[in-house]
Amino acid sequence: NRKFHPDDTVVDCGHGVLVGGGTFHVMAGPCSIEGDNLFAIAREVKAAGATMLRGGAFKPRTSPYANQGMGVKGLQLLHDAGVENEMPTVSEVMDARDIPAFLDNDISVLQVGARNMQNSTLLKELGKLDKPILLKRGLAATIDEWLMAAEYVMAGGNGNVILCERGIRTFETRTRNTLDTNAIAVAKHLSHLPVVGDPSHATGYTRYVVSAALAATAAGADGLEIEVHSSPEHAWSDGAQALTPAQFKNAMRRISLVREAV
Ligand code: PEP
Ligand code: MN
Repeated sequence: NRKFHPDDTVVDCGHGVLVGGGTFHVMAGPCSIEGDNLFAIAREVKAAGATMLRGGAFKPRTSPYANQGMGVKGLQLLHDAGVENEMPTVSEVMDARDIPAFLDNDISVLQVGARNMQNSTLLKELGKLDKPILLKRGLAATIDEWLMAAEYVMAGGNGNVILCERGIRTFETRTRNTLDTNAIAVAKHLSHLPVVGDPSHATGYTRYVVSAALAATAAGADGLEIEVHSSPEHAWSDGAQALTPAQFKNAMRRISLVREAV
């Protein structure tokens, strides 16, 4: 915590992308990697100002019958799209047995999804790497539990942790989750780690994503993770919360206005 580590941690994600310490980086891309459409999405999010490319290859789906992701083939596509656009890549690792595939494909940032935030076996394995870890807050985790999960990674020797507030479960049903903007300010106060906001999973609906993105930015986030799909109605997962590239471009313009104002 800040007592032992007063300065902000800066996480080097490659391609000159340093997260934390006053910078602001947006990671964008589809929920699921689906094939070659990733390349067009990557070009468009980069042109709009995203500095990191996200895409899920191993997907934690609620139903076992829902598409579970492309797996290793998806990581290969993500790698190639990242190289083509000179962007660091972000993808979720669900199982420690898959870590070698992430390393083989030089995935820049390994995401721990909300469902795995307290998977201490996985966290300990990620603690042995020197790769950046994007640690999402659990569906119903307190801020202290989230910070302790980060501690698991850091205790193993990997200090490259980025926290991600992605909305928590509340009684509200009009949105998928509830963005906890307080948590962004509190985590920034208590921890030296960078904190990013995920307005896509926090709201679950395209029409609310931009306001949540602006709120997370105003609350002091070091960046955002936003789902973007060129044809949301055909997305394998989370199409209801995806921005089109045009919507993303407009969102980035408004985000930069808030950044300038705070
Ligand atoms: C995702 O980023 O696509 C994802 C599954 O996120 P979360 O773990 O926050 O639900
Ligand atoms: Mn998603």
